[in-house]
Amino acid sequence: MKLFDAHCHLQDPRILSNVPQIIATAQSVGVAAFAVNGVSEKDWLQVKHMSQSYPSVIPSFGLHPWFVAERSPNWFNTLKQFFDSTPSAAVGEIGLDKGSHGRNVDFSDQVEVLKNQLQLAKTLNKPASVHCVRAFGELLEMMKSMGPFPAGVILHSYLGSAEMVPEFSKLGAYFSFSGFLMSLKANKAKKMLQMVPSDRILLETDAPDALPKSNIDSLFFVDGDPSLPEEPQGQSSTSSSASGTSLNDGSQVLTDASTLPKETLNHPANIHLVLDYVASMLEITKEELAELSYQNAVRVFSYEGSKVLHA
Ligand SMILES: [Zn+2]
Repeated sequence: MKLFDAHCHLQDPRILSNVPQIIATAQSVGVAAFAVNGVSEKDWLQVKHMSQSYPSVIPSFGLHPWFVAERSPNWFNTLKQFFDSTPSAAVGEIGLDKGSHGRNVDFSDQVEVLKNQLQLAKTLNKPASVHCVRAFGELLEMMKSMGPFPAGVILHSYLGSAEMVPEFSKLGAYFSFSGFLMSLKANKAKKMLQMVPSDRILLETDAPDALPKSNIDSLFFVDGDPSLPEEPQGQSSTSSSASGTSLNDGSQVLTDASTLPKETLNHPANIHLVLDYVASMLEITKEELAELSYQNAVRVFSYEGSKVLHA
């Protein structure tokens, strides 16, 4: 089974030193490609270097809404230069955020920065990976005014409404699902997933964030993650299981990831758990969903200059 992690952040300082091991582990469980998204001027070079070192890394450059306030006066030129020198790159992560993180960033600045980058994606004919928190109405209006986007817009970790899916689809959107989907009520997630056209579904991890709320025994952890107890699997330990509860006292014990500290790092190999969850919601086999989502990812990442075209 081949899988394509359509959105992650392997350049993140929290996991950067583990990247060789992380990529090897994820590849050993079938993850063939990683769309690695830069988030600010500070990490674009790291993303570029990573894509030069690893054939499986698809680089993406973008200014994420959380980092809009700290952009330099020259940020947009710098961004354009990265695309000039890296034809294999896609656009991302970009977006709008009115949630707990984003509401401190001037929203009209976020709008302007997103507009510039979406326009750039359109001009360059590249897909753009878009983050959207509590601003789906504004995003849809902007995309309507600028669209359509034939190269694709990837709505990453999509948690928008079922009703908006057809409108975004019409404009060229893909819907990418991560462990965050497990925070929605199951019936709501199901209703929304069923609206997504089968040729627009993608899977991602958003690693090192978005740890799936799955059984601890089924999760992959990042070696040396400081938030983990000594034996995160909790399989043999009676005193220090991840839930802090004895596992052999005969009672029902919570062993899903919600018992872990919320800063626990996610590993791209956990895309399997996202696959299992989305497949179960859609009532299709995981083999079918793996194939479908892989083909969709290959299609959207097959722009001119992309590594996927030559893989
Ligand atoms: Zn992200």
